[in-house]
Amino acid sequence: MCRDGSIRKIKFIENIHIFRCPICKTQMHIYDSKDIVCPKRHCFNIARKGYVNFLLKGISTDYDRALFDSRKIIYKTGFFDPMLELINDLIVERLGTNLNGANILDAGCGEGSHLGHVIGSLNARTGNILQGVGVDISKEGILSASKGYFGIIWCVADLANLPFMDRQFDVILNILSPANYGEFDRVLKDDGILTKVVPGSSYLGELRDIFYDGTEKEVYSNDEVIEHYSNNFNILDIQEIEYSKEIDQEELMHLINMTPLSWSVIDNKIERAIKADIKNISANFTIIVGQKRDRS
Ligand SMILES: [Zn+2]
Repeated sequence: MCRDGSIRKIKFIENIHIFRCPICKTQMHIYDSKDIVCPKRHCFNIARKGYVNFLLKGISTDYDRALFDSRKIIYKTGFFDPMLELINDLIVERLGTNLNGANILDAGCGEGSHLGHVIGSLNARTGNILQGVGVDISKEGILSASKGYFGIIWCVADLANLPFMDRQFDVILNILSPANYGEFDRVLKDDGILTKVVPGSSYLGELRDIFYDGTEKEVYSNDEVIEHYSNNFNILDIQEIEYSKEIDQEELMHLINMTPLSWSVIDNKIERAIKADIKNISANFTIIVGQKRDRS
C-alpha cells in the first residue's frame, strides 16, 4: 500500500476522509502515499515517524522534551491510571460497548500516554477496534507520542484550527489541557461526548503547599473552568476522583519537572520540595462529560 512500506502511514491513508485543510478548509486526499494535500495543493507530509505537522508556522511552547519524558515516566508509575479508567467507564456508560470504528480525539495529547491508555484499555474491554487521533501544538510531544503508539494518528496542530472535517469524532478528550470549545463543537458528532479533565483542589497538594506557601494561589478552585464549560456544552455528568500514590525521590523529581506548577516557582522552593521527604502525592481530578448544545 505504501511505497516506502511504512506501516505508520497506513492509518493516515485509511482515515484520510477525516482531514480538512487548515488553510482553505477543504477536504484532503493522499498524494503518492506520502503527502496529505487539498485541491488547492496545500501539502502536508506524513513524516517517516508517523505523524503530520499541520502548523502553518513554527511555534515555541514551554513544553520541552524533558517535560514529556518526565510525564511518560509518571504515567508508567500508574499515577493517572484510576483517572483514565474512570474516563473509560464514563465513555462506556454514555456510548455503550459497541464502539467498533469509533473515533476518539485527544485534544492537547502531549506525549500521548493518556490517549494510548484509553484506546488500549477500551479495545481490550469492548473487543472493538477504536481509532485514536492525538493532537498537540508541541512537536516534541507528538514526536514522543509517535514513537510509542503506532496505531494512533498523531498530528501537530493548533487547537484553534483543527485539521479535521466537521462531525468526525464520537469522543473528544481534553485532559489537563486548555480547551477550544468552538472547534470541539465543530468536529464532534452530534451524538458525541466531550470529556474534559481538570485538576481538583487537592491535586498535587503536597507540592502546591510548598510552591505557593503564603500566596493567593495556594487555594485552587476549578469552578470557573466548569462554568466556562457549561456556557459552551451541556453538562451530562461531573465526577470527582481522589486518591493518593506512593512515590520515591526520583519520581518526585519527574513530577516536579512535568507540572506547570513549578514553572513560575523560584528555585529555592523547588529545592524545598525535593528535600521535604514527600512520600505520598495526592491525585484529584474532576471529569466533566457533556454534549453539544445544538444537535440536529
Ligand atoms: Zn488547502
